[in-house]
Amino acid sequence: MKAEIISTGTELLLGQITDTNSPYLAAELPLLGIDLYWITHVGDNQPRIVEALKRAWERSDIIITTGGLGPTEGDITREAIAELMGEPLKIDREILEGLRSMFSKRGVEMPQRNIKQAHIIPSARAIPNAVGTAPGWWVEHEGKIILALPGPPWEMQRMWLNEIKPRLEPKLSGEVIISRIIKTAGIPEAKLDEMVSPLLSSTNPTLALYAKMDGIQLRLTAKARKRAKAEELIAQAESRLKAILGQAIWGFDEDALEVLTGNMLRERKLSLATMESCTGGLLASTITDVPGSSDYFKGGLVAYSARAKAAFGVDAKLLAQKGTVDPEVAAAMAKAARLRLEADIGIGVTGVAGPAEIEGKPVGTVYIAIDGGDSKKSSFSALYPPRRPLVKRQAVVSALFKLRQLLLSW
Ligand code: AMP
Ligand code: MG
Repeated sequence: MKAEIISTGTELLLGQITDTNSPYLAAELPLLGIDLYWITHVGDNQPRIVEALKRAWERSDIIITTGGLGPTEGDITREAIAELMGEPLKIDREILEGLRSMFSKRGVEMPQRNIKQAHIIPSARAIPNAVGTAPGWWVEHEGKIILALPGPPWEMQRMWLNEIKPRLEPKLSGEVIISRIIKTAGIPEAKLDEMVSPLLSSTNPTLALYAKMDGIQLRLTAKARKRAKAEELIAQAESRLKAILGQAIWGFDEDALEVLTGNMLRERKLSLATMESCTGGLLASTITDVPGSSDYFKGGLVAYSARAKAAFGVDAKLLAQKGTVDPEVAAAMAKAARLRLEADIGIGVTGVAGPAEIEGKPVGTVYIAIDGGDSKKSSFSALYPPRRPLVKRQAVVSALFKLRQLLLSW
């Protein structure tokens, strides 16, 4: 089965919102063994939506649209599908009653505009929307399927998972496509590519490499009639990769550094504190994205100025002598965080996020220090590409990698 996604919305073309619906569906389709060949973005313009639908109808078996099911005049996905199918739109009493009762439950009268959402064509069935007013459409004709899903990601995902997926599954050939992501760090992309080249020519599973903020990822994708077979193909390739890459692998699939390091701290019954300058609290924010992080995270100090650093316990003389962007200052920040917050481990981060250099240090310079007392210390410096948000995020990733490294031998 070949699928195609059409995301509608002029705001997508203007760059005002990022299409998150397509990537979500793109990750879902392989689980059902459906190949995705095309993703199209098209504005709220009926002739162009119809054009996109026509092309999709010719080359794909399943067409999934998102967006354009709202009550406003700009929402024209229903109209476009009706035009494609050459079928008239008629009010469906049941949908209309459903909408009316939804509004009356909220204690408001249904605006006239919403009647639009109760229209349907003969080839379509309405798909309930548990969290919004826009019903979806399931259109089936000549062996092809059009699924019209709402634009708001939460509504789209609910409808996909609860209404579409269970109805789609029995219609499929039963082939499954599964992927495994292997996350690495410390080996440059070109070198990694060379190391895994024996597997790159494999067609099942396929192997792909791409760079992410937290290192280079390898993605294995296998296809088989039975899930167990696909899993076996992945497992075989994975063990070959493990043999080649060894310690460079730090995680799989959804693994996140902040979760892994959090688990390591918990297992070792260690606590953590941070003092951040250039990252402005992003490290603490990332650490506390993890539920249960209060088990091991004592807190984070944002010491943006020299004065703040001194107030939190960094030696004022050191600051006067070295400035604020300095490896020794990072080490002093780590130590001060550890002592001030009575933690086992402190992390200090200082650097130049940009746009201007500081104390003669170029934008992108970052010093990270970790202090676990006694001999358990480590430090790291880097020069990242000079883009402020990236410098901050990259510094956070590096700090977590360094923490992981220290904890591995703790
Ligand atoms: P629509 O039904 O097309 O008017 O979409 C309603 C709202 O859903 C839009 O204003 C966006 O906030 C959101 N939305 C629509 N399409 C997408 C998409 N492809 N990715 C993420 N959000 C979307
Ligand atoms: Mg819209």
